[in-house]
Amino acid sequence: MSEREEGQLFDEVTIEVQAGAGGNGATAFRREKFVPRGGPSGGSGGRGGDVIVAVAPRLNTLVGFRRSKHFEAGRGAHGSGKDQNGAHGEDVIVRVPPGTIVRDADTREVLGDLIEPAQQMIVAQGGRGGRGNAAFANSTHRAPHFSEKGEKGQQRRLRLELKLIADIGIIGKPNAGKSTFLASVTAARPKIADYPFTTLTPNLGVAEIDERAFVLADIPGLIEGAHEGAGLGARFLRHIERTRLLVHLLDGSEENPLDAFDAINHELAEFSPALATKPQVVGFNKMDVPDAQANLPKVRRELAKREIEVFPISAATGEGVRELLRRAVQFLNTLPAPAVMSEEEMMPVFRAEPNENAFAISREDETRKRGQVIHIYRVRGKKVERIIAMTNWEQDEGAARAHRVLQAMGVNDALRAAGIQEGDTVQIGDTELEWSEGVNR
Ligand code: GDP
Ligand code: MG
Repeated sequence: MSEREEGQLFDEVTIEVQAGAGGNGATAFRREKFVPRGGPSGGSGGRGGDVIVAVAPRLNTLVGFRRSKHFEAGRGAHGSGKDQNGAHGEDVIVRVPPGTIVRDADTREVLGDLIEPAQQMIVAQGGRGGRGNAAFANSTHRAPHFSEKGEKGQQRRLRLELKLIADIGIIGKPNAGKSTFLASVTAARPKIADYPFTTLTPNLGVAEIDERAFVLADIPGLIEGAHEGAGLGARFLRHIERTRLLVHLLDGSEENPLDAFDAINHELAEFSPALATKPQVVGFNKMDVPDAQANLPKVRRELAKREIEVFPISAATGEGVRELLRRAVQFLNTLPAPAVMSEEEMMPVFRAEPNENAFAISREDETRKRGQVIHIYRVRGKKVERIIAMTNWEQDEGAARAHRVLQAMGVNDALRAAGIQEGDTVQIGDTELEWSEGVNR
């Protein structure tokens, strides 16, 4: 997919993450005086590094991902003789701005919603280290000649979506003075200059009042955009869903500011019921214009009947703006913190499956092998796939152990029940085995 298709605002990006593979286990034996061959001493491989997504509070865009889109954690070191276990692979940390939603790019499943400064989550898990032969020794099998290979690290494509977390959204009709208002109250501009700029880009500002900073979003095109179809609207919606309070600006110099107020609220309700229920502080703008001064008493009276407080301001001169902001901040302090997904919703990815041992068998296409029609059976299951992937098939004892595990798990019986015949192929993960009763029984 090209970058353009991914989202011209760079508030969405797709990256690839690859966790580290586990190190291989070793097959080795101790050398002791007077003993021709000592006990097994092959150490286990270290586990592969994880890929972790973490919030970096100072970041506020996903622009950095234009340059780097691939993240790979370190692989675990192999085990070696003398019971030396391999070191763990190094984790890699992907830093994202607060407000980033992490999805699996292929399934679209939300993996996490990263809001808090210290929040982090594992998005790809490092592979387990393979066990060395020392780990397989027991009273009946004192000298195992096999060890496991390390497990592959998890790989996935992630979709990062940045929700700009504005405390306050500024709404109002075109020309009400939203942009002017934002410019007049803004102490600092978060770096959004790197966004390819369009007039429909939400415009952010940080205002400071009484030593408290909060983020305002001027949302041009919310209402204008709503006319142009749901697609455009949804895009803006995502940016402002999390605002907790709306400043509704009226152009006081208009003939009937109340009509504008009602029209905007009506459209807002149709556009997003959730947004429409957010509390509003009303700014009656352009008070430097005589028409506005004349309109104020009537509008004030009407809105007072609805228990809505009106702040006369001039975004152009700055008059009344601080008072409005101070009221907004007071209001914010009484409102609940922005909603965060519950922990259960947040990390649905790597919760252990209810039954690791569960597996399923499906019969795939037929194929021909040595002139004979054979069937292909695929076995799917977490544990069975892991065991098979970690088996070193060049070691006879390793292969034999894998077959024992398949037998013990009931995989062989299930394959027989499914009708498997001599010479058929069994696929488990990336491994293909040929079914032969001589070996498997
Ligand atoms: P927006 O479409 O809501 O973003 O409105 P703008 O901020 O772009 O303002 C629309 C027009 O109104 C511009 O020409 C502004 O200069 C003007 N304007 C905004 N605020 C005031 C104000 O307080 N007084 C006056 N006289 N003009 C204003
Ligand atoms: Mg504007």
